[in-house]
Amino acid sequence: MGQRGPKSHADLWDTLQHFRPGIFACKCGQCAGHNTLHVNVALALDEIAEKMDSPPLVVTGCRCPTHNRLTNKDPYSPHCAQNGEKTYAVDLKFANAEQAFQFLKEAVQLCSVIIAGPGKILHIEMHPKAYAAPRFWRKLDME
Ligand SMILES: [Zn+2]
Repeated sequence: MGQRGPKSHADLWDTLQHFRPGIFACKCGQCAGHNTLHVNVALALDEIAEKMDSPPLVVTGCRCPTHNRLTNKDPYSPHCAQNGEKTYAVDLKFANAEQAFQFLKEAVQLCSVIIAGPGKILHIEMHPKAYAAPRFWRKLDME
């Protein structure tokens, strides 16, 4: 490829230590692993996992538009990119509250984090610091 300078996004995916890149791709099985997650989100998750006893399980990264239509009523789901943009959302499953706390303690220092619960699966959106203040995304916000 004749690359020089900073690593390309493709190379950055290969640097992940705690997650397989494919874990963030669409799981519908029809779209050949559509992955629109911004690599910086994966890198941030990896950096956080380094400080945890064990990494969270990635339940959902991206959905391709077809899969999103079948699984989510919201056409603007943050897991589904519009117009070739990147996504910043992952659903993570934690074994227990201690593991979730370990994660969030680190996450809020790295990124602006939007959190929706409840339960052991948390919807996390990690945006560049300037994008938004950390906040909880309540069910009400969706209606
Ligand atoms: Zn798909």
